[in-house]
Amino acid sequence: MTRRAFPALDWFRLLAAVLVVAIHTGPLGSFSPAADLWLTRILARVAVPYFAMVSGYFLARGHWQGTGRLWRHTLLLYAASVLLYLPLNIYAGNPITWRGLLFNGTFYHLWYLPALLLALPIARLLAKAGRTGWAVAGLLYFIGLGGDSYYGLAGQLPGLGALYEVVFTFWNYTRNGLFFLPLFLLLGAAFAARPAPEVRQNARLTLAGLGAMTAEGLALHAAGIPRHDSLYLFLPLTMWGLFGLLLAVNGGQDRAVRRTATLVYILHPLCIVAVRVMARFLGLRWLLVDNSTVHFAVVVPLSVALAYLVQALPRRRRAVLPPDARAWREIDLAALRRNTALLRDALPASCALMAVVKADAYGHGAVPVARTLQREGICHFAVACLAEGIQLRRAGIRGSILILGWTDPALAPLIHRWRLCATVADADHGRALSARGVPVRVHLAVDTGMHRLGIPAEEISTLAELFTLPNLRVEGVYSHLCTSDGASEADRAFAQKQTETFVRTLTLLRGMGLDPGLTHLQASYGILNLGCTAGHTFGAARPGLVLYGVYSDKTPVDHPLPLRPVLSLRARVAAVHRVPAGEGAGYGLVFTARRDTCLAVLAIGYADGLPRNYGAQGGVVLLHGARCPVVGRVCMDQMLVDATDLPIPPKAGECATLIGTDGSGTLRAEEVAVACGTITNELLSRLGPRLGLVVQNP
Ligand SMILES: *Cc1c(COP(=O)(O)O)cnc(C)c1O
Repeated sequence: MTRRAFPALDWFRLLAAVLVVAIHTGPLGSFSPAADLWLTRILARVAVPYFAMVSGYFLARGHWQGTGRLWRHTLLLYAASVLLYLPLNIYAGNPITWRGLLFNGTFYHLWYLPALLLALPIARLLAKAGRTGWAVAGLLYFIGLGGDSYYGLAGQLPGLGALYEVVFTFWNYTRNGLFFLPLFLLLGAAFAARPAPEVRQNARLTLAGLGAMTAEGLALHAAGIPRHDSLYLFLPLTMWGLFGLLLAVNGGQDRAVRRTATLVYILHPLCIVAVRVMARFLGLRWLLVDNSTVHFAVVVPLSVALAYLVQALPRRRRAVLPPDARAWREIDLAALRRNTALLRDALPASCALMAVVKADAYGHGAVPVARTLQREGICHFAVACLAEGIQLRRAGIRGSILILGWTDPALAPLIHRWRLCATVADADHGRALSARGVPVRVHLAVDTGMHRLGIPAEEISTLAELFTLPNLRVEGVYSHLCTSDGASEADRAFAQKQTETFVRTLTLLRGMGLDPGLTHLQASYGILNLGCTAGHTFGAARPGLVLYGVYSDKTPVDHPLPLRPVLSLRARVAAVHRVPAGEGAGYGLVFTARRDTCLAVLAIGYADGLPRNYGAQGGVVLLHGARCPVVGRVCMDQMLVDATDLPIPPKAGECATLIGTDGSGTLRAEEVAVACGTITNELLSRLGPRLGLVVQNP
């Protein structure tokens, strides 16, 4: 069920670095010049654009805020590389020039680093310039193309020919930071704002691109047109498919592989020299150098080994904060997937699942939850406010995102920009949204008796008016039940009445020739108590809580589902004390030890979401799988637990469970919510942002 994550993006970096080694060793050269041409001057040309695309992708995911850091990092790497290759420069009689330092790199492979230093600020500027930026990047690439593999044609054109002459007084090639890299940085960046790419489509695109590039490259070389062969007309297309494909199958990351790739890139010319020297000493030149396949086969492992050796050098490690250092939530994504599947099976086929992921997905982490749901094929999401919607879009969530709460009409441009959908809270709100002059997609909330948000169901003409307002595009109509979680006759009757009112309103609207779009009524308890259809067929259901595998409390429901809780809450034991009988502990000394007591201090408090009086209300936690009562007043960042009854006293650093399972003990969220004097909805959504998030079964 759970797929192992494969860090495809990082592994392909390593493969790309090996392709660069191939470019510099020509492994097929001893067999067939044609095969060598294809491998090193066509196929392997995907390597460097790939490096640029990965950088562009991750920079754009961070809204280009990491540009300065990457720039400084690249500068450091370049400086170190210049120094590393300095002895070889001296030995070979290649003086270091400004032209080399600033434009071409001081050794043949180092051109990429100054090119990246130039391309990063350019790409960042172009990315902010929208369509103009794309046009400029495309134009630059085109000019670069003319100075590279199409030089035999473009160089003849009078204006262009003169331009290239100027360019070539600075750079050896147009494969540089001005003409070549900006487009690939932008192409990578474009993926950051796009929905998750699809495997098959991108695999086809990659193959088609490679085929076209092969034909293009072979034809150009046969005609003797190229001056150099890094830029092809079909290279951007190929890279688009290839990157999409890798992104589609990518899961997680592997820093070690990533670092190895960079080091192989930087170090392989050194290894080429080393192999040559070694071959001379051993009298094996005929084998180790002249046979290009063997040469390549020796240089690659040597480079990888050297890369590992460099990484093994002792250095200061930067401390990373593990999410489970103090107190944390564990999110079992396999349980989330199962609950989703259960709900989908329960709902009629025509009824979509609109996943409610407001309040940071009820404290579960909106981004990992929404990403998981998206991968399961969910394409309707609901949040409470604009900022939550934007957060999801930034994390790459596509499909519809409905804002269930009130949105200030002044924010209409942002609703539009992030392709969100607003709820029309009442007639005036709808008119104000419309008056902003920006197209806004909306769902109309209909008040069927809750009297929270919505246009009163009886005001049919007002509802109809909202369909005709300029700039408002009504894509859905919905209502909300306010007693569906109640077990009493009156509660059920009221929910039934609301349902009938909603259905009647929809019928009236349709009778007026208006299309309500996506219709939806039931949240979790609407499904659990009224059944999956509530006796009607709506376009969608809108559950939140049940996705997370819990009920609000322990009240039985009419249509239970075998849900699996997604969240566990854990905290570390900070200290253990022996408190003699008669001694008090905590704020106000509210707790007094009646016997010699073993007190465990947990590193979690009310700022993390548990109430201050949790102990007084019967709160317990699991230590060593056994229930231990919370005592005294919960502090902002700690709480005290009576661990006297444990056969073995706890130790500092051990882990306590506040929600979830530990050994044979389980504390369900429903039970904890009761001790908090509330329902799970409140308990979970209040879990504080300072809690770590540990994702399981991604
Ligand atoms: C929060 C919310 C939901 C989801 O409620 P659950 O009870 O968690 O399923 C659905 N609709 C609206 C309007 C909401 O505010």
